[in-house]
Amino acid sequence: MSLSGKKITVIGAGIGGLTAAIALRARGAKVTVLEQAEAIIEVGAGIQVSPNGFAVLRALGLEDRFRQIAVQGQAVELRDYRADSLVARLDLGLLPEDQPYFFVHRADLVDILADAARAEGVKIRLLQKANTVEATDLPVVHLANGADMKADIVIGADGLHSRLRPVLNGVTAPFFTRQTAWRATIPNVIDHPNVSRVHMAPKRHMVTYPLRGGELINIVAVQERTGWAEEGWQHKDDPANLRHAFSDFGGDAKRMLAAVEDVGLWGLFRHPVAPIWHKGHTAILGDAAHPTLPFMAQGAVMAMEDSWVLTDALDQADTVEAGLAAYQARREDRVKKIVETANGNAWKYHLSFPPMRFGAHMGLRVVSKLAPKKLMQQFDWIYRHDVTKG
Ligand SMILES: Cc1cc2nc3c(=O)[nH]c(=O)nc-3n(C[C@H](O)[C@H](O)[C@H](O)COP(=O)(O)OP(=O)(O)OC[C@H]3O[C@@H](n4cnc5c(N)ncnc54)[C@H](O)[C@@H]3O)c2cc1C
Repeated sequence: MSLSGKKITVIGAGIGGLTAAIALRARGAKVTVLEQAEAIIEVGAGIQVSPNGFAVLRALGLEDRFRQIAVQGQAVELRDYRADSLVARLDLGLLPEDQPYFFVHRADLVDILADAARAEGVKIRLLQKANTVEATDLPVVHLANGADMKADIVIGADGLHSRLRPVLNGVTAPFFTRQTAWRATIPNVIDHPNVSRVHMAPKRHMVTYPLRGGELINIVAVQERTGWAEEGWQHKDDPANLRHAFSDFGGDAKRMLAAVEDVGLWGLFRHPVAPIWHKGHTAILGDAAHPTLPFMAQGAVMAMEDSWVLTDALDQADTVEAGLAAYQARREDRVKKIVETANGNAWKYHLSFPPMRFGAHMGLRVVSKLAPKKLMQQFDWIYRHDVTKG
């Protein structure tokens, strides 16, 4: 089915919505993106873009621009919190040369996606909040300002609090994982190498990596606790609370924590992967379909993969319905496996019982030294999957 001239409305100008807009436009669709915010401003935070996400950016012709704004990662280091000593090292140099791993500021990534979308003729309409969607063969988006928008196809890329997801699936309540996370960016006070460091402690871990040519460091600090913060990205906290919770961290970790001046806090919730991703001529992608905990750093990357596959599936199918069904069929198993892997990951970093902690760290040290390739190979199924190659 040719997408040429098809009127497609994408709700949400996040990483998923913008990637989908560029991909759909490249196949000839007339794409409008509706964004509720008054400007496309991303909260200040980094994301890791693994090779499977980079493959999508490359296929969309954005490789050069992306390389200019991103830091290429050399390794992932697992470190013990008190002495800040190295436990294990995953050498990202073991990845094939054409499958690099990056750290990037979300705002910079969204900027290049929005610029590319506009340059290709995508209309991005700000201050357009979708209230609900009629999920039929002639879908209509009802906007909060009272206007209605008809389209041939409507894509809900509207994140965690999607308006289209409950239309397709009913309302599902997320549950609190008893973990909260602080997020901050700080100046590069320790000359952080181009690696992602996971500082592991009982019931806590902290991930740090450099951004913007090494000018900044991104910090995500996760703590297990019973009280919870409301779900979302915009909750400010006092940096003293973060420092107090991680006060036994030593070395570079301590110095980075001392430099935090501005910090956001949020509760980590688990949502089931939506059983239904499409109905009539509507579909959901990214966090709208399958929000994930951040412990595999795959949320944005999965949204990019979805965008490519959705476009390709529509392009190859005879009808919109068949294309959307093929999209879900091609994505669902992989996405579920990644979400489940992320769900199971935090406890590995948070081991509290000293003998277990000692044993696990010993094992990691040995494998890291004697069989570094083995450590990396466990992620091949995620990183070396290239949706753009079918
Ligand atoms: C701490 C943390 C660290 C992370 N690290 C990584 C990482 O390293 N790598 C990675 O790949 N992922 C990471 N993620 C996950 C990633 O940020 C998300 O999975 C990703 O942003 C989802 O993209 P999206 O486009 O689906 O949704 P979003 O980015 O949430 O975008 C949704 C957009 O829709 C708009 N919108 C919402 N509702 C409406 C409406 N009703 N009408 C109009 N517009 C609307 C919003 O304003 C927003 O612009 C991390 C997440 C967290 C919390």
